[in-house]
Amino acid sequence: MITFEEAQQIIISSIKLLDTEEIFFQDASGRILADAVFADDDMPPFSRSAMDGFALRAEDQDMLLDIIEEIPAGKFPAKKIGKGQCAKIMTGAPIPPGCNMVVRVEDTGIDKSGQMQVIVKGAISNIRVQGEDVKKHQNIINPGQLIKNQHIGMMAMAGCTRPVVYRKPSVGILTTGSELVAPDEKPERSQIRNSNGPMLLSQLSGLGLEATNYGVAPDDPEKMQKRIRLAIDQQDVVLISGGVSAGDYDYVPGILKEIGMEIRIHKMKVRPGKPLLFAVNEHKYVFGLPGNPVSTFVQFECLIKPFLLRLMGNESSDIRIKMVMGTDYPHKDSDLRFFIPVRFDGTGVVPIEYHGSGHLTSYTLAEGILDIPPGISYIHKGETVNVIPI
Ligand code: AMP
Ligand code: MG
Repeated sequence: MITFEEAQQIIISSIKLLDTEEIFFQDASGRILADAVFADDDMPPFSRSAMDGFALRAEDQDMLLDIIEEIPAGKFPAKKIGKGQCAKIMTGAPIPPGCNMVVRVEDTGIDKSGQMQVIVKGAISNIRVQGEDVKKHQNIINPGQLIKNQHIGMMAMAGCTRPVVYRKPSVGILTTGSELVAPDEKPERSQIRNSNGPMLLSQLSGLGLEATNYGVAPDDPEKMQKRIRLAIDQQDVVLISGGVSAGDYDYVPGILKEIGMEIRIHKMKVRPGKPLLFAVNEHKYVFGLPGNPVSTFVQFECLIKPFLLRLMGNESSDIRIKMVMGTDYPHKDSDLRFFIPVRFDGTGVVPIEYHGSGHLTSYTLAEGILDIPPGISYIHKGETVNVIPI
């Protein structure tokens, strides 16, 4: 059986990048940039004041100065600052010619005759020099970047209103299981509510992907095959919940083979989610997720989310962060990689009591998933661990 890292590698090497498209920048959050965004001008585009205060010549500190102009933001100064002169200046206003210093208003005083006296408390120039942040034509956002709120601000600054991003994959979800009823129905004995379907839709929407729901297929090979075929025909990526293990009614692997998909992963050394399946055909990708809700939830976060980001062009698919363990944690040494629910408190990462992959409630208060590699029998308080924030 392959390891989780091997599974990740197989998935990454199966990816064929999607096309690119130009979109309105305001809609770009959550997308992956395909062409660099560059500065169309220096940033800042002109030297400007970082403070409300007075613009003067540094060598004129401690002199009485005449105020020759008032420069609000948005106005270009009309006059040059000469010896013994200053201009009242507002934050963001252009620095007048001749001036090499702005003194904060708090560090100045008016003398009795009504003339300006500048009292300098520190030799800070308070000038944001043209181009000190970024030079004209410099890249400010690189291809492969997942676009977040701050990038929207940067695009606006650079006048990039039509960024080129990777196309979103179309995603379909199909839930299998004859025991499943809709969440708004009252299950009869032997039935349970379908929680994976709605949960997967919600996880996908967190990535900005509106998936098509192919509903619940009963454990009937013919009916299931029709739905799976339809979903694969219509979508780039299909997520199938349930029916992938080794039970007599687990028809998904057989169906995928029948319809010409190449199964590249079936079972990996992890818990939860061991029976996970990954199949490919040309530009079509199918994930079969074990039906236990925790397996579905965790494998989406740990494996499928990085896959989708990568498919959309994001180069750094490692979504784990390093954190400090907040408590001692004895763990059963095993050749499996474990993913367990954790919360964060002032001391660091704290595992949450976990009753197995059938019980999603252990994730109620979870803020992350702790990634415990194989062969670990104890994690000490203060140790650095890898966590996938959720
Ligand atoms: P399976 O992977 O189909 O063998 O299912 C494993 C377990 O997960 C069984 O107890 C199923 O009843 C349960 N299960 C499967 N699909 C779902 C679902 N969509 N929502 C909630 N539980 C499910
Ligand atoms: Mg099933």
